[in-house]
Amino acid sequence: MANMTLTKTPMPEQDPNVRNHNFQEVALGYTAEMAMEEAKRCLQCKKPKCVEGCPVNIHIPEFIAKVAEGDFQAAYEIVTSTNALPALSGRVCPQESQCESKCVRGVKGEPVAIGRLERFVADWYRENVNAMPEKPESNGIKVAVVGSGPAGLTCAAELAKKGYEVTIFEALHRAGGVLVYGIPEFRLPKAIVANEVRKLQAMGVTVMTDMVIGKVLSIDELFDEMGFKAVFVGSGAGLPMFMHIPGEALRGVYSANEYLTRVNLMKAYEEASDTPIIVSKAVAIVGGGNVAMDAARCAKRLGAETVYIVYRRGEAEMPARLEEQHHAKEEGIIFKTLTNPTEILGDEDGRVKGMTCIQMELGEPDASGRRRPIPVEGSEFTLDVDTVIMSLGTSPNPLIRSTTPGLEVNRKGCLVVNEDHMTTRDQVYAGGDAVTGAATVILAMGAGKEAAAAIDRAMQAK
Ligand code: FAD
Ligand code: SF4
Repeated sequence: MANMTLTKTPMPEQDPNVRNHNFQEVALGYTAEMAMEEAKRCLQCKKPKCVEGCPVNIHIPEFIAKVAEGDFQAAYEIVTSTNALPALSGRVCPQESQCESKCVRGVKGEPVAIGRLERFVADWYRENVNAMPEKPESNGIKVAVVGSGPAGLTCAAELAKKGYEVTIFEALHRAGGVLVYGIPEFRLPKAIVANEVRKLQAMGVTVMTDMVIGKVLSIDELFDEMGFKAVFVGSGAGLPMFMHIPGEALRGVYSANEYLTRVNLMKAYEEASDTPIIVSKAVAIVGGGNVAMDAARCAKRLGAETVYIVYRRGEAEMPARLEEQHHAKEEGIIFKTLTNPTEILGDEDGRVKGMTCIQMELGEPDASGRRRPIPVEGSEFTLDVDTVIMSLGTSPNPLIRSTTPGLEVNRKGCLVVNEDHMTTRDQVYAGGDAVTGAATVILAMGAGKEAAAAIDRAMQAK
C-alpha cells in the first residue's frame, strides 16, 4: 500500500551548531527502513513526469519500486543503467528544479525524495558490494579526455565500456574536477569521488594528473605524436570573475575558486596541512549562488565568528539551491541581501579592513528576467570584515582555445560544438561547463555521455 504521508521522510543531519565546526558530511543519509518507507510514497505513475524532469532520464519509478521491495541491488542496477555516478548526483543535483519539481506527489504536499533515494541506493551498493568493474576487451582505439570533472569522467567511463583505450589528462594533482576542488567535503565526501575514479581505472582508463593540456602537451600533439584518434575536452569553467571595484588586489581578497581549492583540494582545514589560508574573524562572500554558500560555510567551519553573504538582489532571486540557503542560515551565516559592494578598504599593510556597500532596490526585470537591482542613493555603509571572497561566477579558461588552432568559442569564451558535441576541429569533442559556462554536474555528465556516443559513431564509421 502506498504511503500517503504528505511530507518527505526527513533526512537525518548533523546538528547545525556541531557541524559548523567540522567538515564531516551534513546530511547523514537514509537507513534502509527510511528508504523503503519513502519509496512507498511513489505512486508508480503510468506516465511518470519525474523522468521527463531528469536530464539523464533515470528510470525513476522502476528503481523506486525495487527500493520499496528492499531489493537494493536491483535498484542500483536500474539507476546505473542511465546514470554512471548516482552517489554524486544523489547528493548535489538540484532535484527541486528537475525530477522532484515534476513529481505528482508535489501537487499536494512534498514530492517523493527521489534524490535521497538515489543517494541511498548508491551508498548501499558502495558499502555492501562495491564490485570493481571488469576491464572490457580493448578495441585498440585511443581516445584522450582533457579534464576529470563529471563531463570527463562520464565520457571516459562510457568509452571504456565500449573497449576504447582512454587516457584522462588532468591539470590538478587529483582527479574529480569541481567535485574535489570546489564542492566541500561536508556536501560530497572526497572518498566517494575517489571510489568512482578507482572504478574507471579498473575498467582500464589511465588517469594522468599534473598534465595541463596547452602547456605540457598540445591537442595537436595528442593526435600527431601520441596516436589518439579523438579528444574530448571537458576542461570546465574555472576562471573567476571579479567586480573591478577598488581594493580587489588587497591581501585577504580571494576568488571563491581559490578559497575553495585551498580548503577542499589542499585540505587547509586539517591541522597538518601546510596550505596557507587566512584565519578570518569576519568574512564577506559576494554572490548568491551555490558556490557562495559553499565558501561561506567553509569560512564558518574554519573559525570565522561572523560570515556574511552579500547579494545585490533579494532572497527570492538567489540562484543557490534552497536547501543550501537553508543549511547556511542554520549554521549562522548572515544574509545581507539587496546589498552591493562599492569598495574594499585596506589598512596600512595592504590587508582588508572593511568593505563599503550600498543598499539596493529592485526595479523592472532585466534581460535575465530577474528584477534589476538599483542603488539607493545615500545608503552607503561599511561592513567590518577582514576577508572578502568574490563569488560572481566563472568562465572557461582560454588556455586550450589559445593553443589549439581552429577551435572556435562564443563571446563568453565557451567552446562552440555541433549536435554531436564536436567542436570546430575535426575529432575534437567538448562538453560540460567548457561549452555551457558554469552549469550543473548532471548536465556535464549528460554531455560527456552523449559525446562518448558520438565519438563511438565516428570511430565505427571510419
Ligand atoms: P569541472 O568539474 O570544472 O572539471 C574540469 C576539469 O578540467 C578540472 O579538474 C580542471 O582542473 C581540468 N582542466 C582544466 N583545464 C585543463 C587543461 N588545460 N588540461 C587538463 N585539465 C584541465 N553543480 C551541481 O549540480 N550541484 C551543486 O551543488 C554544485 N555545487 C557547486 C559548487 C562549487 C563550489 C562549484 C565551483 C560548482 C558547483 N556546481 C554544482 C557546478 C558543477 O560542479 C559544474 O557544473 C561541473 O563540475 C562541471 O563539470 P565539468 O566536468 O564540465 O568541469
Ligand atoms: Fe513516483 Fe513522483 Fe515519479 Fe509518479 S512522478 S512515478 S509519484 S516519483
